[in-house]
This record gives sequence, C-alpha cells and structure tokens, in this order.
Amino acid sequence: MSNQPYQNQQFRLAARPIGLPKASDWSLTTEAVRALNEGEILVQTIYISLDPAMRGWMNEGKSYIRPVAIGEVMRAGAIGKVLASKSPRFAVGDYVSGGIGVQTFWVGAADDKAAAFYKIDPKLAPLPTYLNALGMPGMTAYFGLLDIGQPKTGETVVVSGASGAVGQTVGQIAKHHGCRVVGIAGGKEKCDFVVNELGFDACIDYKSDSLKDGLKEHCPNGVDVYFDNVGGEILDTVLTRINMKARIIICGAISQYNNTTPVKGPSNYLALLVNRAKMEGMVVFDYASRYSEAVQAMSGWMAQGKFKTREDIVQGFTNFPDTLLMLFAGKNFGKLILQVSPE
Ligand code: NAP
Repeated sequence: MSNQPYQNQQFRLAARPIGLPKASDWSLTTEAVRALNEGEILVQTIYISLDPAMRGWMNEGKSYIRPVAIGEVMRAGAIGKVLASKSPRFAVGDYVSGGIGVQTFWVGAADDKAAAFYKIDPKLAPLPTYLNALGMPGMTAYFGLLDIGQPKTGETVVVSGASGAVGQTVGQIAKHHGCRVVGIAGGKEKCDFVVNELGFDACIDYKSDSLKDGLKEHCPNGVDVYFDNVGGEILDTVLTRINMKARIIICGAISQYNNTTPVKGPSNYLALLVNRAKMEGMVVFDYASRYSEAVQAMSGWMAQGKFKTREDIVQGFTNFPDTLLMLFAGKNFGKLILQVSPE
C-alpha cells in the first residue's frame, strides 16, 4: 500500500506560553506521511485527549516528565486506527491507544516506547471511554483515591473538578466503597449531573454558592478524604473542614496552571498538624504496572450499569488551540476530547 496520499497535520509548540496559551504559541505544519519500514505501523488519529497537564508540559523546567521542546509536535494521548502495518503486533483495522501527539497520523515502530501503543476493543466500551475512565484520567482517579486516599465505608470524600474526567470517576469509585461523596463543581448543570446521574450525595457550586457554607451543610461529619484537582482557594477552604487523620490527594491544581505570579499555596496548612492529617501528591504513571486492576474494576461496574462516563467531544483538528483553552475556563462538561477523523 502506498502512504503517499496521506498528509500529516501537526500542532507544534512554537513558544513557551506566559499565562494562557495563545495562537502564536503554536505552529500548524503539514508533512507527507513516509513509507513504512519493517516493524513499523501507520496510525490515523481519531480522538485526541485534551488534558490540563498539557499546560505544564509546555513549560520549561524540571517536572515528572520532560517538557515538550520548541518545534516538537505537542504531546498528547490519543486513539487511532492502524491503516498499515509491517509489524506482527498490530493488524490493519486495529484500534490503538497511545502517545500519538497532536497530529492526524503517526508513523513509527510498533513498540515505540514513548507512544506505548496498546490495542483497545470498541465492542467492550465506546472508543472515547478509553481516554476517560478506562484511560489516563480513570487510572488517576482509581489509584489516587484508593491507594493514597484509602477511603473507608461511611467516610466523607470530597472531590473538586467533580464533573470532569478525573472527578466523575473519583466520586463513583468512592460511592462503590460506601462513602458519602460531595463534589465541588462550577455551575448548577454540572452539580445536577454529578448528583442525579452519577449518584454523588451532594455537590457544591463554588461559582454561585459559598464553599464554606456548602461544606458545613453537606459534610456534617467533616471531611475524611479530599481529592484535590484544582488547588488554590478551594483547597484552602476544604482544609478548614478536615477530620483527624484526613487524607488529601494532591492530584492537580488547575486554578494555578496559567499563573503569571507564583503558585498560591495553602495558607491553612496547619490544619494538617492539628488533625495529624496527610497531604500527598500522586502521578498516575507510577501505577502503570497496575492499570489492568483498575480497568477490570471499572469495566465490571460499567457492564453492570453501575458506572457512567461523560465526554465532551469537539470536532476538527484545527480547533485544537481554542479547544484546549476550554479546560481552563470550565467550558468542558466531562472528559474533553478532540475528534479529528471518523471512527
Ligand atoms: P477536567 O476536570 O475534565 O477539566 C478541567 C476542569 O477544571 C474544568 O472543567 C473546570 O471545572 C475546572 N477548573 C478550571 N479552572 C478552574 C479554577 N480556576 N478553579 C477551579 N476549577 C477550575 O480535567 P481532568 O482531566 O479531570 O483533570 C483534573 C485535574 O487532575 C487537573 O488538575 C489535572 O492536571 C489533574 N490530573 C493529574 C494527574 C496526575 O497524575 N497527577 C493525571 C490526570 C489529571 P468547573 O467548571 O467545575 O470549574
């Protein structure tokens, strides 16, 4: 088969953003897809995962993963279909998940370490679910909550970013473990969704209501586990309600990612001392060897109709820069995904 008709469109990092990424921080390039060598595959991208972490990868400096270099195709998890294969690992027509990047095609060794492709089955779950609960955000929720949060039946779990990719899964897992679950989300629609559709016990709309009063009302026995996705003032306020030996999972701090001033740390951290509580950071990749455990648990609940997911799918490759910004304005409702070709 000739690869000649395929033109690969790519968003590359053109400059390191200051504050919110702007159009000039990206360059859109097109290159012809090259012919395959032995052991290689050609993948056509279908769904690209848009994640808050992408903002951090655009910064210079030491982190849990190296920064995306200037001129490099933007890093992203994605799902694609194998269009051509010279590898016994994948056949034409297979659906794969891996580090494809923000580009419409991917060519390279089937066992490329950075891409880390694995086959996914659209009969077991819709493809976008593999970027949500059965993908990186789901793994984050599962291991962050269970391994670090260690929730016990009857305890109160609070999760911020409650309707988002990680938050929606955290809350449902906590319910499956017999906890009282209180979400924090921006807007009535998101709050109604997590309570009425996902079964959370309550949700506080931090944009309209007082978070402090909401926590008093909905967490009458205090907070045993706080799964923090947003940082900043919300973290500070939740700290005022924690119980003895509470566990706080530092998963992310989206409220701080576009700061042009230093990150705002919690001023109420002495609540940790008073309550002999612990606050612990987590990075999902540390749990890679255990992902199958989480997939088994969550796909089991899904098969029984006891676990729901919600994705927010935006169409069109060239909409990438604007779509990414939705995350930082709370405009996504569910796991944010960019669809760049049909299934
Ligand atoms: P998401 O929740 O689906 O989307 C982001 C949401 O964050 C927005 O919809 C918005 O929801 C909320 N938000 C945005 N700006 C905010 C602000 N200033 N204050 C409060 N909330 C704000 O994103 P996700 O993929 O599930 O990620 C959630 C968090 O987990 C992020 O911090 C991410 O970096 C982190 N994460 C960490 C790991 C890890 O390994 N540690 C892995 C995956 C994700 P509202 O409308 O409700 O405000």
